[in-house]
Amino acid sequence: MRESKPILPPGTLERSFKKKGPKQYTIWVDLEYCIGCHACTMACKAENNTPVGLDFNRVIEVEEGEFTNPKKKPNLGTYFVAMPCMH
Ligand code: SF4
Repeated sequence: MRESKPILPPGTLERSFKKKGPKQYTIWVDLEYCIGCHACTMACKAENNTPVGLDFNRVIEVEEGEFTNPKKKPNLGTYFVAMPCMH
């Protein structure tokens, strides 16, 4: 497993935890670790009580690569992109 690199400048999270006043929470998704399990979609549905067929959070599967020469091994890959509504 790779070592994750910080995206925010050092101390940013610590300062936000100490900040007075109303808190603003966020969800942080490192897409390199996403396995497409849709647990985030289910958690969002449970929290917002959305009806069947309405998902505020979606997870898409992206396929990439080429399969051009049938005599060669294809160079293909798949990854997942969690797409929260950002609200
Ligand atoms: S689908 Fe959602 S819960 Fe599952 S690994 Fe990806 S981001 Fe995390």
